[in-house]
Amino acid sequence: MRNERLHSILKETFGHQEFRLEQLNIINSILDGTDTLAIMPTGGGKSMCFQVPALYLDGVTVVISPLISLMSDQVANLSNNGVSACYLNSNQSPEEKAEARERLLSGEVKLVYVSPEGILSGGISNFLQNLNIGLVAIDEAHCVSQWGHEFRPDYTRLGGLKDIFPDVPILALTATADEKTRADITHQLRMNTPNIFISSFDRANIKYTILEREDEIKQLDEFINKNHKGDTGIVYCLSRRKVEAVSKKLRERGHQSYAYHAGLTREQRDFAQKTFSNEENVVIVATIAFGMGIDRPDVRFVAHLDLPKSVESYYQETGRAGRDGLPANAWMVYGLQDVIKLSQMLETTEAHENYKKVARGKLDSMLSICETTKCRRNFLLQYFEEDSPEQCDNCDTCLHPGETWDGRVDAQKVLSTIYRTEQRYGAGYIVDVLRGSKNAKVEERGHDKLSVYGIGKGETKSHWNLIIRQLLNLKYICIKSWEYRTLGLMKKSENLLKGNEEFLLKKRKITLRVATEKVASSHERNDLFEELRKVRKVIAKENGLAPYMVFGDKSLHDMCQILPRSKDEFLMVNGVGSSKCEKYSDVFLKEINTYISKS
Ligand code: ADP
Ligand code: ZN
Repeated sequence: MRNERLHSILKETFGHQEFRLEQLNIINSILDGTDTLAIMPTGGGKSMCFQVPALYLDGVTVVISPLISLMSDQVANLSNNGVSACYLNSNQSPEEKAEARERLLSGEVKLVYVSPEGILSGGISNFLQNLNIGLVAIDEAHCVSQWGHEFRPDYTRLGGLKDIFPDVPILALTATADEKTRADITHQLRMNTPNIFISSFDRANIKYTILEREDEIKQLDEFINKNHKGDTGIVYCLSRRKVEAVSKKLRERGHQSYAYHAGLTREQRDFAQKTFSNEENVVIVATIAFGMGIDRPDVRFVAHLDLPKSVESYYQETGRAGRDGLPANAWMVYGLQDVIKLSQMLETTEAHENYKKVARGKLDSMLSICETTKCRRNFLLQYFEEDSPEQCDNCDTCLHPGETWDGRVDAQKVLSTIYRTEQRYGAGYIVDVLRGSKNAKVEERGHDKLSVYGIGKGETKSHWNLIIRQLLNLKYICIKSWEYRTLGLMKKSENLLKGNEEFLLKKRKITLRVATEKVASSHERNDLFEELRKVRKVIAKENGLAPYMVFGDKSLHDMCQILPRSKDEFLMVNGVGSSKCEKYSDVFLKEINTYISKS
């Protein structure tokens, strides 16, 4: 009986046919009155876990969400589906506040969004205590934990919720939580014998590709042109300067690209964010400052031009692609400089040794995923302690299993050069000696007389960089001085120097081939789809909404397939609930009808 009603809310209001992953179990757990922790990957559909119960329950559902900037979008999205919602936060004018309170008192509102600092401020909590509260949902719940990677001090006070609403079940939601963080969340929030639901972390629609950096702008430009013409995506870089430079170069190559980083003015950032939310083919080049505020479900690609610091960050950043479940690309280039730069940043901070140890481990895992010759998805899922098949057939290593070769002789050449130059130089110099460079310094130091001088002439610089990188990653060598980035030998190198060990490497030519080939079969586009996109854009403009709030790409694709001719048929389209059907069916049906009669 209950399940039937829940299904009908899902269908009628949100236009979805079935619950996904653990959605239904999570909702039932809350409706039984049990505190619940829900761990679901980004794009898994966490919102439904509190929006559906909000409509089922008599009282109001309080949603605690860290970003005030997202609240108005979330409320607009709900209103567009015919759900009455509002928010209370410190940015509102007194009039807006009063209006929201009045609506809440009248009993009309089903969901109210509040920030973590807001909920614990006397004013708001006293006010809410006088209402009938059915559920408290805490979004991005990993922020309560110091173990998580986005700790927010405001969140730690949320344990106080149990004093304010002792009889109301709490639902905590997050996309990232290892065992330690999980335990911390339930503890900090003082949850009573909670139910914990963990959904698979797999994002099967995302294709992972990691390439050697050659000419990164050229590589990126080719990647976008081949796979993502007209699509929206994000390009992440480490520094503000690089963000600006890359964005400029992309614009020169004809992409509608904007820079985003914390050093820009408020207006510039708002402009970039707004364009990103409202336009159809935008490439945002950003530092990681761009992220938390992204709700857009149809980001088709996330590209990294610099290596993230950890697998957690990589997974979170790439996870912003394809939240609508349609094919998307996570694409990255990296090279020796990334390894050196990140290690240097880490070793030269003043942080505590324990912190450095953890950070070093995280960086190592990130490097392993780059260097692996096996399935990248399998590696990612294992990292998050999830079993998965050894092959996913949707990452570059599965699709192009590169041959490996034994690079032991080349590794020996590098190791001997480091040894014979007395472990006093950086990678660039070692390569100079190997390749017999005429660099004056080499002669000055008499290194042109060494037996290793020029023994690597036959290979390119990047070949030697790759060997050095792999030697670093596998801990045969280390960086001895961060100031001069000098390379030194580790004990482990002895065996390799003697030639007693294999040194397996991927064949580089493979990666070159992947770079120039179509990376993911982007979703099919036909004329009708393009027409419907135009209709969507007009409606969005008229109503002051982002296009995806009118309908997601998935709904448009569904329309192209189903070709609905009536309102009843229009309701069969994924994402069409009764409210959107009322509002938008006429315009879309007309467009579809024109298309059918033409063809
Ligand atoms: P999360 O917060 O977990 O990242 P969202 O709640 O934003 O994800 O949902 C991601 C997308 O999945 C949205 O476009 C949403 O409409 C869609 N979605 C959620 N639940 C379902 C479902 N049961 N069936 C189909 N689509 C769904
Ligand atoms: Zn794979």
